[in-house]
Amino acid sequence: MKRRTKIVCTLGPACGTPEGIQSLISTGMNVARINCSHGDWETRHEWIKTIRGLAKEIAPVGILVDLQGPKFRIGELEQPLTVSAGQTLTISNEDTNATLFIPGEDIWQAMKTGDRLLLGDGDVELKLGQNTRTEFTAKVVAGGIIKSRQGVTLVGKSFETPAITEKDLLDVIEAAAVRADFVALSYVRRAGDLRELRRILEKFDYYPQIVAKIETHQAVKEIDEILKVADVIMVARGDLGLQMDLEAIPLVQKKVIRKCNEAGKPVITATQMLESMINIARPTRAEATDVANAILDGTDAVMLSGETATGKYPIETLKVMGKIAEAAESSFNHDAHFDSLEAMKDNTSAVAQAAVQLSSSLKVKAIVTTTTSGLTPRMVSKYRPRMPILCASWTAKTHQQMSVIWGVESILLDSPETMDDVVQKAIDGFLRERMIKVGDTVVITAGVPAGKVGNTNLIMVENVK
Ligand code: PGA
Ligand code: MN
Repeated sequence: MKRRTKIVCTLGPACGTPEGIQSLISTGMNVARINCSHGDWETRHEWIKTIRGLAKEIAPVGILVDLQGPKFRIGELEQPLTVSAGQTLTISNEDTNATLFIPGEDIWQAMKTGDRLLLGDGDVELKLGQNTRTEFTAKVVAGGIIKSRQGVTLVGKSFETPAITEKDLLDVIEAAAVRADFVALSYVRRAGDLRELRRILEKFDYYPQIVAKIETHQAVKEIDEILKVADVIMVARGDLGLQMDLEAIPLVQKKVIRKCNEAGKPVITATQMLESMINIARPTRAEATDVANAILDGTDAVMLSGETATGKYPIETLKVMGKIAEAAESSFNHDAHFDSLEAMKDNTSAVAQAAVQLSSSLKVKAIVTTTTSGLTPRMVSKYRPRMPILCASWTAKTHQQMSVIWGVESILLDSPETMDDVVQKAIDGFLRERMIKVGDTVVITAGVPAGKVGNTNLIMVENVK
């Protein structure tokens, strides 16, 4: 069977040529991530044009625009600075003679004597000492090399800063212009941050799926509220590992994935999954185990960042990830997962759950869903059936948004007129794509009348003719 776990690949110079993108799609990239923290829109527009063109020929691909969000950085340094443990530095909020310059009132107001600051990926750790209004002394706790414009994390503290920066607004305008399928918000603190983003997107008459990146302490605490507003969740382990103690990360990952599974919301597990493959053609044992464990935890998708964006082996890494995923999927406990979920009371979820149950008692070849908004296949996926979840939809948007949902294989149809028309066109489409064969028994879900959202109310068992 086809791989069920979806793979998100971050684009970058290592894979950003038309040939590179073509290889990524042919090798199995489901979602292309555009990281707004690096690069420019001129290049990104080229990528998007290439993807949209090739996807029609090869396989559906979702496009995810990842907004940088309120990230704080140190100022420019004349040259990289090597610091060692025990050394004392000065940090200023103004561009003075201090060792480091940290612009931004919000972070400065929140910094207190005794707080810990992490630079970059957290290699360099500083402990804040005495301060005046514009300057702190700081002791180096862990040494390393400090470079210009490195990110700064004030460990364990959240402070008020606008959720969407001016840079993010510019990136939103571009994302709206290309109708990216997903927009991700970094450093989400609460549900209100996502509502604010949705209001901005609506101004452009643009309704993508919103991805909430869970990478702050506060977001972990407020995950239940965030889940009500977000369409997709990302466990963004990179920044999470700076904001929380590292030993908390595996547990946060399990907890967040579980909550997403219960809510029927897709979840992406991200960062450092096959990190060593940036430089070496084989992953470590620990990395292979990490990818497999995320899948056994119940993640819908796994993500590659530097591995595909700037690494030496982007295609090999994607291949390796696909293989690890398939192996892990073969021991996924479908029955235990199904039994662990509570019965839902709304039409679509209840029908989806019943369709999965029926499919497993009848051992059918596939579950065929027809959908306007994508809700039905998402709910079927929630119950993690053994058989393929085939999805027929008639908007490019829904078709592309299926790229992040576990186990869903999507095709795009012309707009249907009647319910019979929907089902017939779907069956014909799946036959054409060889996703089913004449003689197969399938379970079909549909909604009468066709085209209404949240209205799936029909299950049929059919022998494909
Ligand atoms: P980033 O997000 O790569 O945009 O920082 C992912 C993460 O923090 O894990
Ligand atoms: Mn991050």
